[in-house]
Amino acid sequence: MKIRINENFKLIGKNYLFTEIDARVRKFEELHPDKKLLRLGIGDVTLPLTRSVTDAMASAVAEMADASTFRGYAPAFGYDFLLQSIKRHYARFGVLIEASEIFVSDGAKSDAGNITELFGDNTALIPDPVYPVYLDSNILAGRRVEFLPATEENAFLPTHEGLSGEGYIIYLCSPNNPTGAVLDREALSEWVGFALKTGSLIIYDSAYEAYISDGSPHTVYEIPGARGCAIEICSLSKTAGFTGTRLSWTVVPSELIAGGISLREMWGRRQATKFNGVPYVVQRGAEAALSDRGRGECLALVRYYMENAAILTSVLRECGISFTGGTSSPYIWMKCPGGDDSWTFFDKLLDKAGIVGTPGSGFGKCGERCFRLTSFGSRETMSEAASRLIRFL
Ligand code: PLP
Repeated sequence: MKIRINENFKLIGKNYLFTEIDARVRKFEELHPDKKLLRLGIGDVTLPLTRSVTDAMASAVAEMADASTFRGYAPAFGYDFLLQSIKRHYARFGVLIEASEIFVSDGAKSDAGNITELFGDNTALIPDPVYPVYLDSNILAGRRVEFLPATEENAFLPTHEGLSGEGYIIYLCSPNNPTGAVLDREALSEWVGFALKTGSLIIYDSAYEAYISDGSPHTVYEIPGARGCAIEICSLSKTAGFTGTRLSWTVVPSELIAGGISLREMWGRRQATKFNGVPYVVQRGAEAALSDRGRGECLALVRYYMENAAILTSVLRECGISFTGGTSSPYIWMKCPGGDDSWTFFDKLLDKAGIVGTPGSGFGKCGERCFRLTSFGSRETMSEAASRLIRFL
């Protein structure tokens, strides 16, 4: 063919991490067909949708089956009933967001990837390690990237120390995937201050806000000034078990103006051009998840996963393995014992304990000697994993 391609695709390479994990797991299963594997690697939830959500979705399905209540295309930015629910959700944290600043979407992954379309030639500051979408989407857009190392030395909370430029696009994820580290009020205020001072924009991913239990902000807008420098992306995937149901939203405050244009209007234009809305049935489910009763049910799911995390972290503590996360996050980020690199530890854990985790190097260079365990699983899996870990570590 004679077409020119986006050469940047060559720079992101193959999605090596999960294919390589699958290949190694398959090989293990062929060699040990009788050994039960415990999967603590995936970042997917396992508990079902809650009662409020399924009841609401069932009623919505009934509406779709009746000509008088049938709905076609949803509004591109979300039905007003859901925008109002999201607005009330923010009020739980003392934050006022207007419905016109909220854009409902089918996933935080899509929004985090697509938001790059709004920006020109800026440097993106990306934590290392972190959810890989921010890096890959910026490389695809041909943007310069500088990493913000998250290491044991800074308690896995990157800072802006040593950065002297301006006009950055700054990615923050709190609680962080994979480290589970949470930006407290002071650390987040530091970032907001830096963004305001340098004319930068924060893209704040709060997909795990429901797991926060230490009083840290659930939304960047709890920090004064954040409306002038931050876009927030949130999702019901990990809060309400919506990974297969799909609903998220992005908040773009009206104060955000760059290049003489409102970013809120730009994002609206982008969504209206390339996205045709989230299904009515799903939006009714999301409305139920965000109601007081629904939020209570979701927090019960979160509690279940956090009790799982406590089972795992008590073993790590007992074995003297240092780790972060597991308190305000479903992820536990442990140091590989004996100075192993993360793939060597992956193989040992699989071979000796039949446990599948995720090598830290898959989330960035700084993850090279770390390993991620997730608490999304049944209580039985966690208890069995705990006893195998005690024998192995
Ligand atoms: N943001 C973070 C930090 C994540 O870890 C994930 C999924 O693992 C997502 C966003 C994706 O969320 P969604 O399912 O809404 O696309």
